[in-house]
Amino acid sequence: MRMTVLASGSKGNSTVISSSRTRILVDAGLSCRELLRRMALVEEDPNTLDAILITHEHIDHVAGLAVLARRLNIPVYFTEPTHRAWVRMLTPRTTMTYAKWLDHVQQEKEARANANAAAQAQAIANISAEAAALSPEQRSDDPNASLELPIDPDADLEAACDSAPIPKEKSDPAHLPVVEYFHAGTNFSIGDLEISPFTIPHDAADPCGFVVQADGIRMALATDLGYMPPNVKAALKRIDLLLLESNHDLEMLRDGPYPWSVKQRVLSRVGHLSNDATADFLQKDYDGSAAYIILGHLSESNNAPELARLAAEQALSAHPTLLGNRILLAEQSTPLTPISI
Ligand SMILES: [Zn+2]
Ligand SMILES: [Zn+2]
Repeated sequence: MRMTVLASGSKGNSTVISSSRTRILVDAGLSCRELLRRMALVEEDPNTLDAILITHEHIDHVAGLAVLARRLNIPVYFTEPTHRAWVRMLTPRTTMTYAKWLDHVQQEKEARANANAAAQAQAIANISAEAAALSPEQRSDDPNASLELPIDPDADLEAACDSAPIPKEKSDPAHLPVVEYFHAGTNFSIGDLEISPFTIPHDAADPCGFVVQADGIRMALATDLGYMPPNVKAALKRIDLLLLESNHDLEMLRDGPYPWSVKQRVLSRVGHLSNDATADFLQKDYDGSAAYIILGHLSESNNAPELARLAAEQALSAHPTLLGNRILLAEQSTPLTPISI
């Protein structure tokens, strides 16, 4: 099996995982063009990709998804809530309170009335002539009819309840060649890859990490986690190659440039793992079977690669049996050399 991290970090994430027979892309968080450029750099042929898997709908994981999937004409695997959240993101609805909407309608009416005042007589003549040509359904005696209900005040509510059908038209920005749904906790296969999705704590609709297994080798991706819950610790046992988040240094984040609200979000239980939290997992819960640990989703503003590496190395050094693990650092701007096991 082989893993190639094309990009990792808050500006884009994407990883190719392949067996001898099957090749998938996990996340497509760079533009289609940049993803293709990076695949060419590391000699990963995009035309042999069998599918794209999505962890969650944040832009750093889906930025190039629609264009790439359509271009390669391959299926995209999501959980249903993630797919719906992604579709909503690409087809934003006008958000307006009822009071604002009434205000908006009133303003339009007034503007229209003012504009029409000078040519009223002529306008009435035109309306009469047009009305005569309309079918009974189209006809309206109200001169303001065209101003009515440009926005359905219930539309946002409908969207929030997920009741709107997902459009499939090709003209839609969310159109994909094929959509397949999976559920966290339920294994599924793509070719000879067996995939075990697990729920991760993060502020997205239904975020997942993955264990991907073939030929007796197990690779795992676990980034974008607010903390390490028991189900994730359990999923990350007996892994041969682990891509694990080490997002920020706590002090750098506290003293760094982010606004207070963003700092709170990153630090929260649905944010990102700090170097310390990752080290804590490695020291207390990690079973040490991975030949490689790739530290990923490092913050460019609030972390330094050497701090992340040092924290992980210190954690592993507490266990002599773990010293065989090689620590690598995934980068935002360049792909990592492909790793074969
Ligand atoms: Zn992310
Ligand atoms: Zn995220």
